[in-house]
Amino acid sequence: LFVPNDLGPEAEFEASPQQGHYLMHVLRLCEGAEILLFNGRDGEWSAAIAAKSKKAVRLKVLALQRPQPPLPNLIYCFAPLKQGRLDYLVQKAVEMGAGVLQPVITQHTQVAKPGIERLRANVVEAAEQCGILAVPEVREAEKFERLLAGWGKERRLIFCDEDASTNNPLPALQAVREKKFGLLVGPEGGFSDEERRMLRVLPFVTAIPLGPRILRADTAAVAALAVIQATVGD
Ligand code: SAM
Repeated sequence: LFVPNDLGPEAEFEASPQQGHYLMHVLRLCEGAEILLFNGRDGEWSAAIAAKSKKAVRLKVLALQRPQPPLPNLIYCFAPLKQGRLDYLVQKAVEMGAGVLQPVITQHTQVAKPGIERLRANVVEAAEQCGILAVPEVREAEKFERLLAGWGKERRLIFCDEDASTNNPLPALQAVREKKFGLLVGPEGGFSDEERRMLRVLPFVTAIPLGPRILRADTAAVAALAVIQATVGD
């Protein structure tokens, strides 16, 4: 279970009402039962159900099981979509190895102010589901121009471009191994011509094609993340 608390031997605290209900009525655990906790900072700890009452479940932290792993190198830059598909996009990005989620506001972005707290809640839920301890960071939305200006020259940006020539992206992908790098997927309306021009002249940007058809933004995201996992694997 994900808990926001600092974890350490002997630490005790009450589970949230939702998690208390889950432990007591879904998993039907008794006092003394052991569970695993993580907070995305201190690693994975075993804990015991120290006490339970109608109102609350107290947890007592026991021992460190796994140290906190580093976040993956991938900075996933995406134009926020409408809510339901955005939830899906975020969940898949966590499952497919994003270490940082960076919403990017482009000219045709549909949602100019994505709900960051909702994105963060989706990330935690996805991390719990796929059993990762390093909870990806969700940054505040950034304007497209500022993203590129701030992008350090030592970092590559892999740009999903439906007009990219079918050059083989593998060499560029393999060049990013063991370094922080970005993946950029456009909005449903695509990048503007001006944005595309900006992207194409930057030395640290590599355009990758994902086949001859126009993919929906969330399809392109999962496809590109799969290409990255298959080549860079992180
Ligand atoms: N530009 C398209 C148009 O105007 O119909 C729509 C953009 S598509 C829905 C959303 C994003 O997915 C694009 O900006 C691009 O980043 C990515 N994408 C879609 N199809 C792709 C392909 N075949 N190859 C690479 N990227 C693709």
